[in-house]
Amino acid sequence: MSRLILKNIETIVSGDIKRPLLKGDAILIEEGKIAGIGRFDDLKPGRNDTLIDCAGTTVTPGLIDSHCHPVLGDFTPRQKQLGFLESQLHGGVTTTISAGEVHLPGRPKDPAGTKALAILAAKSFANFRPGGQKVLGGAVILEKGLTKRDFEEMAAEGVRTVGEVGLGSIKNPAEAAPMVQWARDAGMVVMMHTGGTSIPGSSTVTADMVIQTDPDIVSHINGGPTAVSMEEVEKLVRETTLALEIVHCGNPKVAVEAANLCVEAKALDRIIIGNDAPSGTGVIPLGILRVIAHLASLSSVKAEEAVCMATGNCARIHRLPRGLIAEGREADLVIMDTPMGSIGSNALAAMEAGDVPAVAMVLVDGEIVVPKSRNTPPPVRKPLVARSWRGDDGEE
Ligand SMILES: [Zn+2]
Repeated sequence: MSRLILKNIETIVSGDIKRPLLKGDAILIEEGKIAGIGRFDDLKPGRNDTLIDCAGTTVTPGLIDSHCHPVLGDFTPRQKQLGFLESQLHGGVTTTISAGEVHLPGRPKDPAGTKALAILAAKSFANFRPGGQKVLGGAVILEKGLTKRDFEEMAAEGVRTVGEVGLGSIKNPAEAAPMVQWARDAGMVVMMHTGGTSIPGSSTVTADMVIQTDPDIVSHINGGPTAVSMEEVEKLVRETTLALEIVHCGNPKVAVEAANLCVEAKALDRIIIGNDAPSGTGVIPLGILRVIAHLASLSSVKAEEAVCMATGNCARIHRLPRGLIAEGREADLVIMDTPMGSIGSNALAAMEAGDVPAVAMVLVDGEIVVPKSRNTPPPVRKPLVARSWRGDDGEE
């Protein structure tokens, strides 16, 4: 059995917002899954284990971007760029979730074409990992004419999500609500665009429209890019139990105010973090880390809580078997540290100082997919791989 142990970890962020920090200095990985957390010696290191000496850095679950607009492959027609998903992996994102493949040139809007696109995107991304990153593609856009049977068929073919309600021809809650129910009956998670009109052809969505439609996720409560009023934010926080998404390509002021409101309302377990790129704002490889640093430095959310929003919270809402450093979870991990020159003494302190942390290494299913980020500043401490126990202690 292949075993990997991460040792000399200074801080372990669990991903579980109820208990964000874990005791211990080591993580054991077996067959791509987390098999133990604790003191290095207690994990019974063996001679054939591969070791990563984390050199006093911080380990977090791989970040999950709850809001992306891919199409097919690692290409965005919206900003005409190749490799944006792989580039985001260098920002610590190990899972990206589609909020709808709306940027496909000539996107069909009839039921057959709409279904075909969702199924194709779901199946092609299930087979394709850009740079090693997992992509949950195929978020169906609600268009006129879709039936209950269509949702059952799409679900059976691997479509797990409904992309932002409001981006397709179904615009008002009276039309959307029955489809949302069909989608949910088929086991799908439903996102709903919230706030001002994003691009010509889509629509403005108010808090009342969200409440009447009853999705699972309030997409970009801080706007994508134009936010609803704080009165509407307050309504969504206090009068619903919906998941609340804060995105990079939204309104940064409302992001902070919404986060503070959630601290007050004890609703931190409902916040998830997305990029909402590619979009008119661009392609932002460090978007998720930037939102984490933004919230950790300017709102009353702690750095480790912000990390949990971008990991365990999102995994729970999308029912993904990752996002936590816990036994049995997929070993998608980020080793991070304070970036060179930051006033923060470690990754979490750097975030609270407003700095984007340094991604020192990224693992997916226990395999190193990024040995050193090309997009963040370099870390102060650098993890080191010893291929085996023998290699580590120098014996033959
Ligand atoms: Zn949107």
